[in-house]
Amino acid sequence: MAAGLSRDERAIFKELSTLLGDSEKVLMGLPARMTYDADSYTVERAIPSAIVFPETTDEVQRLVRWCVRKGIAYVARGAGTGLSGGTLPPHGGLVITLKRMNRILAVDIENRQIHAQAGVVNIRLTEAVKAHGLHFAPDPSSQTVATLAGNIAENSGGPHTLKYGVTAPHILRVTMVDARGEVVSLGRRTEAGPGLDLLGLVIGSEGTVGIITEAWVRVVPVAPAVKTALAAFSTPRDATEAVAEVIAAGVVPAALEMMDKNILGALHDAFGLQFPEGTQALLLIECDGQPEAVEAEAAEVARIMESNGAIDVHVAKDETERTRLWIARKKGVGALGRVAPSKVTHDGVIPRSRLPEVLDYVYEVAEEFGVYVANLFHAGDGNLHPIFCFDDRDPKQIENVVAAGHKIAAKCVEVGGSVTGEHGVGVEKSSLLKVMYSEDDLKLQKDVRDIFDPGPNCNPGKILPDQKGYGHMHTSRGLNR
Ligand SMILES: Cc1cc2nc3c(=O)[nH]c(=O)nc-3n(C[C@H](O)[C@H](O)[C@H](O)COP(=O)(O)OP(=O)(O)OC[C@H]3O[C@@H](n4cnc5c(N)ncnc54)[C@H](O)[C@@H]3O)c2cc1C
Repeated sequence: MAAGLSRDERAIFKELSTLLGDSEKVLMGLPARMTYDADSYTVERAIPSAIVFPETTDEVQRLVRWCVRKGIAYVARGAGTGLSGGTLPPHGGLVITLKRMNRILAVDIENRQIHAQAGVVNIRLTEAVKAHGLHFAPDPSSQTVATLAGNIAENSGGPHTLKYGVTAPHILRVTMVDARGEVVSLGRRTEAGPGLDLLGLVIGSEGTVGIITEAWVRVVPVAPAVKTALAAFSTPRDATEAVAEVIAAGVVPAALEMMDKNILGALHDAFGLQFPEGTQALLLIECDGQPEAVEAEAAEVARIMESNGAIDVHVAKDETERTRLWIARKKGVGALGRVAPSKVTHDGVIPRSRLPEVLDYVYEVAEEFGVYVANLFHAGDGNLHPIFCFDDRDPKQIENVVAAGHKIAAKCVEVGGSVTGEHGVGVEKSSLLKVMYSEDDLKLQKDVRDIFDPGPNCNPGKILPDQKGYGHMHTSRGLNR
C-alpha cells in the first residue's frame, strides 16, 4: 500500500513494515486513512497518519516503543463500534487495530474460564463454550461485531446487565502493553489478589493507559429456564412507571428494555413489524433462572405491567417465538437508518425511579432543538439512550444534536445520575466531566493517568476535560502530535 505516498510517508511505511516484518500489516494513503477517521460516533473526526495491524503482544510492544521513542500519539482500536469517539486520533499518529488478534487461546471448562486475544469478537466467547451450557454474560447489543478488549476498555453493558452486571466482574486478568512499552499482567485467574486493583483501573479506562492484548474471562452457566414477554403501553410514561415499579418490587429480570413509538414506527416501515393498536411504547422483559422461580417472577412482572396500564402483554411460548420477540429490540437501531443519514446514540444513566420525568424531559429538549429523537434503552439499568437522527452535512443540525445531548446529560447528573452509563466519555463527553467532578477530583484522575502515560502518547485527548487540544475536525497531516 505504498503507492501514491510522499517521500516522507514512504519512509514511515518502510519503517513500520520492517518493525512488523510485513508490509500487509500497514495501511497508509489518504483513502485508507479516512476510513479510520471516526468510530460509530461520527460527529467528530480526525484522520490518522497510518493504521497498523499487529498480530501478537510482541508486535504491539514494538509499535508502542516506536511511538514512545518518536513522541508519536497512538490509539488502540477494536471493531470501531464505540459511540463516544474513543478511537479517533485527535492528534494524528497511529491507529493500532487489534482486529487480527482474534484467536481464542484456551478454553478451561473445569474452571469456567476462557483465555482470548484482544480482538476476539464478543459472541465468539459464548460460541466457544455453548456446548457446555456456559456463556460469556456481557452482551452489548453490538456483540456480533465488538471486540473483547473494546468491551473491557469501555466496561460495556448490554441488555442483560441488569442481572449479570457490566463487563468488569467477568474479567479476571489482562495482558497489557503499557504506555512505557512494557508488557504487564494485571489481575489473577483466582479471586482478587493483594495490592492495588490496577485491573479495575484499566477496565473502563477507554484505552488511555495502555493496549490490552489478551484477557482471561469468566464464563457462567446458561440459566435452565427463560421466559420473555413484550408489554405494550399507550404512553411512554406508563411504560417507565412500570419499569420503576418492577425495580422497587425487588424483582430482577435478566433484561428490561424499552422502545418508544419512533423506534416502533421505524421497525414497521423497515421490516413490517406490527404492534397492538395504540402502542406508543414497548417493554421487552426477560426472566431467567430455575423454572419455578422464573414462573413466579414472570407472573409478578405481568401483574405490574397490567396494573400500570399495559394494553397488551404477550409471553413467548417457545424459543422460536422468543427469538421473534427480540427482533424488535435487536433491529431497532438499524431500522433508524431509513429516517436520516446520520445518528448519534446519546447515553446517560439515572436512578430508575426518575425515568418517567427524565424521559419526558428528553422529548422536551428534542423539541426545543428541533431534533428527531427515538428512544431504545436498557430501562432496567436506568440507562437512557436517546438516538438523534439528523443530517451531518448540515453544521446547524450537528450543533443542535450536541447541545441537546449536553442538556440531557446535565439533567442526568442533576437527578443523581451520570453523563454516561455505558458508552464512555471519549471525545463526546469530556467537557461534561466538569459537571460531575470537582477540580480536585479531576486533578487526581489526571495525576493517576500521568503516572501511566506522562507523554501523553496513549490515546491523548480523551476522557479528561481540556485535553482535546485539536482545533478542528478532519485534522492531522503528519506523524506528529
Ligand atoms: C449498534 C450498537 C449497539 C451497541 N450496544 C451497546 C450496548 O448495548 N452496551 C454498551 O455498553 N455499548 C454498546 N455499544 C457501544 C460499543 O459497541 C461498545 O462500547 C463496545 O465495547 C466497543 O467495542 P469495539 O471493539 O468496537 O471498540 P472500539 O470502538 O474499537 O474502541 C472503543 C474504545 O476502546 C479502546 N480500545 C479498543 N481496543 C482496545 C485495546 N485492545 N486496548 C485498550 N483499549 C482499547 C479504544 O481506544 C476506544 O477508546 C453499541 C454500539 C453500536 C454501534
